[in-house]
Amino acid sequence: MSSTYTLRQRRQQCAPNKGKAGTSGATAPGKNGLCCFEELPDWQRDNDKILAGYVRETNSMKKCFESLTYFHNETVNIYTHLIPSGTYLVMLMFFTDLFLIPQFPTTTMSDYIMINFFLLGAFLCLMCSTCFHCLKQHSEAQSNIWSKVDYMGIIVLISCSTVSLLYYGFYDYLFHFKMFTIAVVVLGSCCAAFVLNDRFNAKNWRACRAGFFVTFGFSGIVPIVVGLVKFGIAESSKRVQLRFVLLEALFYISGAVIYGFRIPETLLPGKFDFVGHSHQIFHILVVLGSLCHFRALLGSYFFMHTGISSPGLLNLKAL
Ligand SMILES: [Zn+2]
Repeated sequence: MSSTYTLRQRRQQCAPNKGKAGTSGATAPGKNGLCCFEELPDWQRDNDKILAGYVRETNSMKKCFESLTYFHNETVNIYTHLIPSGTYLVMLMFFTDLFLIPQFPTTTMSDYIMINFFLLGAFLCLMCSTCFHCLKQHSEAQSNIWSKVDYMGIIVLISCSTVSLLYYGFYDYLFHFKMFTIAVVVLGSCCAAFVLNDRFNAKNWRACRAGFFVTFGFSGIVPIVVGLVKFGIAESSKRVQLRFVLLEALFYISGAVIYGFRIPETLLPGKFDFVGHSHQIFHILVVLGSLCHFRALLGSYFFMHTGISSPGLLNLKAL
């Protein structure tokens, strides 16, 4: 990215009533050049409140990956998920082996699987999102494929998050764990079938998309309520670390609202093209939500192993 071609210049060239289709519009340094919203083909048009900084259709994977090296309006979207995704991968490969397992001699293979299950889900979700934002400018066909991959990643994260916490919430109530896990698998499969349907990607389904994932995510409230009734607030708070789960929910809800209503670019179109638009905020809130979940998982793991003795782990109750 040339230092002589500033973000201000790009914004000015793509200000409303400038850069009409058919004009040269804003072209930036970078092998593919950038363009304005009005210059985009119909399939690339999604958010008319983001006026500038679009990577033109590349029809080349190589050019899509080259877009990682210069600044455009997807750059923050890409790196806000690429960096945490890499971090989760490193934790998946090393964290449980080097730091977690030695903590308690009572740690079981189930702990290992469940904590890694969440880390794998977080890694996959953020990596799918990264691929989507990097490769969506390839072509309409590729954009549709990677969009579905992106949504599938969210389903994977929600499923892995819910099941891993179900394990700690009901570690000694196997029936409840199995029942709720089956419910997650069924709901996740329904979501996947919905996401893979082409109509789901339509632009006018934006609010529906946000509401759909919020509903799936918040189906996890059912086992929490069951846990509250069964164990009471004090023990439930420790079993699933309720305060972190609530914080996680807060991040995800606010992210979905900001994504659904396109805040803040709806209020000031063109002012947040490169930095600060709703999708970027949504990405950051998703990462924060996942970190809260991981913290809850670790707290639950510590509670489970400090609260019960080793033989107790085998003393599972059927109901
Ligand atoms: Zn995204």
